[in-house]
Amino acid sequence: MRSHLLNRTTAEDYRRSVTAGVEQVAARFASVERPFSGMDADGLGPVIDAIDLDRPLGDTAAALDELGEVYLRDAVYFHHPRYLAHLNCPVVIPAVVGEAVLSAVNSSLDTWDQSAGGTLIERRLIDWTADRIGLGPAADGVFTSGGTQSNLHALLLAREEAKLRPEEFGRLRILTSECSHFSVQKSARLLGLGPDAVVSVPVDREKRMQTVALAAALERCAAEGAVPMAVVATAGTTDFGSIDPLPEIAALCDRHATWMHVDAAYGCGLLASPTRRELLDGIERADSVTVDYHKSFFQPVSSSAVLVRDRSTLRHATYHAEYLNPERTVRERIPNQVDKSLQTTRRFDALKLWMTLRTMGADGVGQLFDEVCDLAAEGWRLLAADPRYDVVVEPRLSTLVFRYVPDRVRTSADVDRANLYARKALFASGEAVVAGTKVGGGQYLKFTLLNPETTTADIAAVLDLIAGHAEQYLGESLDRAC
Ligand SMILES: *Cc1c(COP(=O)(O)O)cnc(C)c1O
Repeated sequence: MRSHLLNRTTAEDYRRSVTAGVEQVAARFASVERPFSGMDADGLGPVIDAIDLDRPLGDTAAALDELGEVYLRDAVYFHHPRYLAHLNCPVVIPAVVGEAVLSAVNSSLDTWDQSAGGTLIERRLIDWTADRIGLGPAADGVFTSGGTQSNLHALLLAREEAKLRPEEFGRLRILTSECSHFSVQKSARLLGLGPDAVVSVPVDREKRMQTVALAAALERCAAEGAVPMAVVATAGTTDFGSIDPLPEIAALCDRHATWMHVDAAYGCGLLASPTRRELLDGIERADSVTVDYHKSFFQPVSSSAVLVRDRSTLRHATYHAEYLNPERTVRERIPNQVDKSLQTTRRFDALKLWMTLRTMGADGVGQLFDEVCDLAAEGWRLLAADPRYDVVVEPRLSTLVFRYVPDRVRTSADVDRANLYARKALFASGEAVVAGTKVGGGQYLKFTLLNPETTTADIAAVLDLIAGHAEQYLGESLDRAC
């Protein structure tokens, strides 16, 4: 049987096969006309179920042809200018080249003897990121699978730094705004904290944490004998892109000797921005920071990191195994990233960012992020001037939260249903993809703009499509009512 292993004798086959795969994808990218086909799970399920996994096709060309039918035809395409839904970015080509290289070489970043230079490249990128944040000379960190893991990792360190015995974990509190990411709650659960561990701090009209309320919550902890183990500030909330007041939060954390974590999963793109870096002022005072390069650095999933001000805190995730990273390797100064990581076998995701910086530079990435922030500002002006729509806040980053409001008087339940209907109908049409969220209990729609190719004309066109679907729903529900 023909060998499918990539090695010395199959190098030519590798070149042919990967080229064929690249050509399939390139042909898609050149021809995709909508962000989505509109296919649903009932339609696609039988196509995928009909594949007999015990009867292989024998060669990648045949498997690639089949893949066109089972995946590529009906995939959701983030590069399309009318994909406006979640925090997914179109990816930059140097990073995709990095991805191809890292999976072929297949380094694993847990130990030096599985990665060699890969470890040093990751370390340079951690240092580069920590420098951009301004974390100081003792900073360190490690790449992770995503913001969720980065937040969990940072909060594990914060919990350990609080120096309570496990029986006392019920006293620990994490203070975070009501707009923070749900991974904070998940982390509290995984870290064995009590059910009331996450204290939700209210936000102001701009959806930023109210520092007066944070100060009061910290006082309350002290009065109740609770231990505030961390304040999680969000630099770019998932829905609104709002940035919590970092300098004020840092001052409060100082006063209460509380760990300050900044979740910059979304806002980290500002670290590379030639014009907006000051929006992150105060982030340099954090004890730990989450960055998601796979959101605002235009990197393929996954690419994320957790950074810490004091590298010695990373020891809380250090364990030694004779078969992997025995203690002697520390004395021998062998750089084993597993000593800092929650993962063991780990992808060389850093290579994608390396290729990106070496090809385009940080300014190149930051300009792309600037463009989508500018686009959001223009989108806000469109929405604010459009009587069909209510828009929640003026964007700091690149999201817009809004809802269709009919000109005839309607119950709020009707308005909710019309907006939800419009979102679903748009998805089913494949013409555009938008997200949804709730604000004050009401159903809203959301654009997350991460594609510099999207224009204000695209935004205007999608707003017309949404209005059309919402009106159709309301017209039909009126007919039903009569
Ligand atoms: C996306 C996001 C996360 C989670 O990151 P993943 O990479 O999806 O795990 C955490 N925090 C914020 C603010 C986010 O927007």
